[in-house]
Amino acid sequence: MSNPFFEPLADTGIPNFPAIRFEHYREAFDRGFEQQREEIQAITSNPDAATFANTLEALEHSGALLRRVEDVFWNLTSSHTDEALQALECEIAPLASAHGSSIYANPQLYARVKAVSEARESLSPEQEQLLEETLRTFIRAGAELSDPQRARVSAITEQLATLCTRFGQNVLKDNNDYALALHSRDELAGLPDYVLEMGRDEARARGLSDAWVFTTSRSSITPFLQYADNPALREEIYRAYSSCGTRSVDNRPLIREIVALRSERAALLGFATHADFMLDDRMAKTPGAVRELLDQVWQPCQEQVSKEAVALAACAGLASEQELAPWDWWYYTEKLRRERFDLDPDELKQYFKLENVRDGVFDVANKLYGIDFRERADLPVYHPDVQVYEASEADGTLIGYFLFDFYMRPSKRSGAWMSEFRAQSNNGERITPVIVNCCNFPKSDPCLLGVDEVRTLFHEFGHGLHGLLSNVRYRSLGGTKVKQDFVELPSQIMEHWAMEPAVLSSYARHVHTGAAIPDALINKLKASELFNQGFATTEYVAACYLDLAWHSDPDAGARDVEEFEAQALQDIGKTPLIDPRYKSTYFQHIFSDDHYSAGYYVYLWAEVLDADGFEAFKENGLFDPATAAAFRSQVLERGGTADPMSLYRAFRGRDPEVTPLLRNRGLL
Ligand SMILES: [Zn+2]
Repeated sequence: MSNPFFEPLADTGIPNFPAIRFEHYREAFDRGFEQQREEIQAITSNPDAATFANTLEALEHSGALLRRVEDVFWNLTSSHTDEALQALECEIAPLASAHGSSIYANPQLYARVKAVSEARESLSPEQEQLLEETLRTFIRAGAELSDPQRARVSAITEQLATLCTRFGQNVLKDNNDYALALHSRDELAGLPDYVLEMGRDEARARGLSDAWVFTTSRSSITPFLQYADNPALREEIYRAYSSCGTRSVDNRPLIREIVALRSERAALLGFATHADFMLDDRMAKTPGAVRELLDQVWQPCQEQVSKEAVALAACAGLASEQELAPWDWWYYTEKLRRERFDLDPDELKQYFKLENVRDGVFDVANKLYGIDFRERADLPVYHPDVQVYEASEADGTLIGYFLFDFYMRPSKRSGAWMSEFRAQSNNGERITPVIVNCCNFPKSDPCLLGVDEVRTLFHEFGHGLHGLLSNVRYRSLGGTKVKQDFVELPSQIMEHWAMEPAVLSSYARHVHTGAAIPDALINKLKASELFNQGFATTEYVAACYLDLAWHSDPDAGARDVEEFEAQALQDIGKTPLIDPRYKSTYFQHIFSDDHYSAGYYVYLWAEVLDADGFEAFKENGLFDPATAAAFRSQVLERGGTADPMSLYRAFRGRDPEVTPLLRNRGLL
């Protein structure tokens, strides 16, 4: 039987999903590793002097087979996994990491890359950037260290890949294992119809009749906490959520091992802490610069949150805010929101049918960048819920393909993300991208989104545009392959359009009547925008501080996890009423992968840019062609081909200012 990974991809770049069987992966990985090893060997044994073409470009082109299998495998282990795939993931993660290390710890290859950088060939700016980034990758993998030290760095990286994989799988397991099954109408008091229906669907999916089931996934627990009148049940589900990673599994030993290994690796590479190591490769550069931004937001946000707590206590009829509990916050916030703004989220949802919101983002992309999306139901998918779109320029030129995978299911990890099945490049041959957006909306017909989910869809679509409109020569500099604290600019700036009245009135149409959302409702929505911002900012920024704490203390790995976390949160004077958005044992951003470690702050960092950047559209017009063209050509198309601040300046004409962010969050 032939292995589809050994065949070239279809022109569309979309993998031949129906032909892929479980047993194909391991075989393709093994051959992919082998093939790239041979390709690297060919580069290092080349008798000719090292040049950009025979070294950097050759390295860039190596590993084509491996990429074909990786692009499918790492997507599906997130979006459509099962026990067999998870077991294989545990096998492959350290192998893939070891393979990557073997390339960047190869002294002959490093010598050639260095020789290219010393030869001063005349290179294009993009080639200079590829050279610089490649050198950096080698150095960060230990290329300048002694052999035993470098071997230790590789071993640590490999071990981290295994530990982080297990951390993420544990979170998925604990989430899937928990169910709050309710049987009486009493217990359900307060829950609106759509939440009840969701509970029914979940119960049915679990084979329970005569029950309503709620889970710790965000789209289930959030409305439950907002509406359930019974405080004991709110407490129960909340405690389940905040003990994720400690119930049927235990992520605490993993955390201690992960932070200890990260710290050891940073020391070997000459950095005081893992945070210093990670930030050295980002816009922020140092933990001090990150702290400065966090502090700038944290101080005013604490005042804001105290006011919010007092108002909630009054709404709850309590003598003081000390009597509130963390699981009360959502409930009384919802009550207060109704009192103050007369805003009914259930009524609002009627205007956010999933298909309408999806067409809304298409429309925004069309007005800004002139691109069209056409459904292609004939192309292969990895799950029947996935929808495929073909994206083209106004003149009909194909840009690439865009996959939407909207609905939650047990085989998908929680959260929302953008990824690629094929990255764009244009080195001799134009390779068009294949992008995917994954979300976790509860599947129902019609599927009505809450305002946060609408924002999520716009957000991920913004990342999607970054990948789709990428226009670079070298794959490894394209799309979202930028400094981690720049990557959220394209996504977060898209969220601004979602809630603009002029945009809302075009896509937010009533699910049954098709009527545009009334101005009165838009006004209420706008009026309530700053409501509860103290809470939202506190839970997010507290998690940023927690992340930095874990990665700024070289001895954190020796500490008790709960104690360490409590200390870190006490150090910033956090109110006990609000927990960080993620506690350590289910903080997947920082522990199920290296990328966002010491990097949860990147959303706030990028928010300085997106808030300031969107001002340009407010000044010149929401769909001003020149502003949109500048954003597309200076940011979206450029990927990581230049220093991000210089890209931003080229778009905006000046450095970003922090004031718009503070104003948008009501913290001025
Ligand atoms: Zn994002």
